[in-house]
Amino acid sequence: AKNAGKNQIALFDAELRAARVLRTRIATGLRRALVGEEFALYYQPVVDLATGDISGVEALLRWIPEGGEPVRPDAFIPVAEETGLIVDIGLWALEQACADARRWHGSHGITVAVNVSGRQLRDETFGDAVLAVLERHELPRHVLTLEITESMLLATTPVETARIVETLTRLREHGVRIALDDFGTGYSSLSYLRTLPVDILKIDRSFTTPLTDADHQRTRAFTKTIVELSASLGLKTVVEGVETREQADVLRQMGSPLGQGYLFSPPVVAGRIDEMLRATPWK
Ligand code: C2E
Ligand code: CA
Ligand code: CA
Ligand code: CA
Repeated sequence: AKNAGKNQIALFDAELRAARVLRTRIATGLRRALVGEEFALYYQPVVDLATGDISGVEALLRWIPEGGEPVRPDAFIPVAEETGLIVDIGLWALEQACADARRWHGSHGITVAVNVSGRQLRDETFGDAVLAVLERHELPRHVLTLEITESMLLATTPVETARIVETLTRLREHGVRIALDDFGTGYSSLSYLRTLPVDILKIDRSFTTPLTDADHQRTRAFTKTIVELSASLGLKTVVEGVETREQADVLRQMGSPLGQGYLFSPPVVAGRIDEMLRATPWK
């Protein structure tokens, strides 16, 4: 038994070492990716559940290594945050999203949402950088939404939190919209809703999936309550992870104005969004 314990520790050690090697390899790859232009933004439409219009898109980052398959952000964003690379990667994403937004806003008046991490927001130059990118692309500020999560505040000190709130407040005063992402998954969603300056609430897909199961009365009650809370606070509501027609119907009846999910489209390359805007497939 003693030996088994030792072996387990050795195994654990080996796993830790392997994880560290993998992290280092990803970090090296990410540095090369920035220089070698291996990043791409995919876009997922946000759809008006009543009319079928596309009201906006969310930009979702992909890493497509030379000669490889696209890597999803969950695999590399944490490393990008740890190493600080997310600051430069995030700026690249913002720049690219605004370039595409300019074209779409000009012809169809839609908005573009970009995800930002806590590491980016803690950077003191972030606010100015956002405003400069908008200016460079001559984009009305209300066209851009920044998506934040409450989890980004978990590891921050009160001073950092205050500075993040200040940066968001300032951007908001300039017209940039702020969305609270993954709402309902954290430990203190309601208190963050009170402290953070937000315009849009994105209800996490864990509330959507069980929506049409017969035995999920309680989930339906929760979802409906959040949709109503959001409306009474004067916020826009987006429900994530809409995969079926039935879910979309239930959500519309609950009064949720906007939905996003595979029912409408997975994240796609920018050119596909151009086509969707012309074809209006859900009208
Ligand atoms: P998120 O912001 O919550 O984005 C939604 C995720 O749900 C996306 O995963 C999207 O592909 C997926 N999704 C959309 N519709 C459905 C559906 O109907 N069913 C299911 N099962 N999934 C759906 P993705 O693209 O892998 O992104 C994962 C996360 O990575 C994002 O979660 C976001 O937190 C982060 N991320 C993505 N792009 C960026 C970025 O540019 N910067 C930062 N900081 N984070 C990013
Ligand atoms: Ca998001
Ligand atoms: Ca989300
Ligand atoms: Ca998420």
